[in-house]
Amino acid sequence: MAISKVKILDVPFVNTTLNEFIDHILNEHILKSKKASIVTANPEIVMHANEDSSYMQILHHANYVTADGIGIVKAAEKLGQPLPERVTGYDLMKGFLSKANQQKMSIYLLGAKDEVIQLAKENIQKTYPNLEIVGYHNGYFNWEENDIGEEIKQLKPDFVFVALGFPRQEKWINQHIDQFDKGVFMGVGGCFDVWAGTVKRAPIIWQKVHLEWFYRLLNQPSRIGRMMAIPKFMKKINEQKVKEKS
Ligand code: UDP
Repeated sequence: MAISKVKILDVPFVNTTLNEFIDHILNEHILKSKKASIVTANPEIVMHANEDSSYMQILHHANYVTADGIGIVKAAEKLGQPLPERVTGYDLMKGFLSKANQQKMSIYLLGAKDEVIQLAKENIQKTYPNLEIVGYHNGYFNWEENDIGEEIKQLKPDFVFVALGFPRQEKWINQHIDQFDKGVFMGVGGCFDVWAGTVKRAPIIWQKVHLEWFYRLLNQPSRIGRMMAIPKFMKKINEQKVKEKS
């Protein structure tokens, strides 16, 4: 069954809850061995796409774009096309890993520094002993010359998690997806750092009050420049709302 979409500043978001989306991916892609690409987009990604048409094209080309963050959910509500909840990269990855563990599926990890991916791999395997990590590669490789794509094609993992940061990870998936026969490919940003324990995710209480972004800012103050995209995004949403009314 197709999932309906809600357009926010021209980016088509899937209108679904986290659990519905996980089930959809399992039923429509994993069970049918049909490949898929997923982008989890936050306001920063939406703003970037509005400034870079080639990146916007990548988002349109992806099979699914999910609402990564409360900013997207609030914007959808403001535009009168509400989305049920946020579907973040970390929560999705955790949901997929848990299903992979239950059903003995395979995964491949691409991205982050060598020591980070080693630790992430060990911690994932400890937490989910029944899933199979068929391969992994750090995220600092020669973009033009490498055999990562070929390796993934041969290994045929069920899930490929790509942690190269945005917009690199979406570009990598978009550039390579045609060469694969199966697999669910998803950009997961800094998630390997969280799995490795080198970056802590905000405690649940911060997440519940929708201040996860503020927690990240306190822990990584260098993110302030990137976070300036959020007020710009809200301003654009307000402009779109006014335009729709007139
Ligand atoms: N990274 C990588 N290759 C690169 C640049 C970055 O593997 O060429 C990794 C980096 O080590 C980190 C992740 O990508 O693990 C980026 O995390 P960030 O929190 O910046 O993700 P974003 O918020 O951009 O999605």
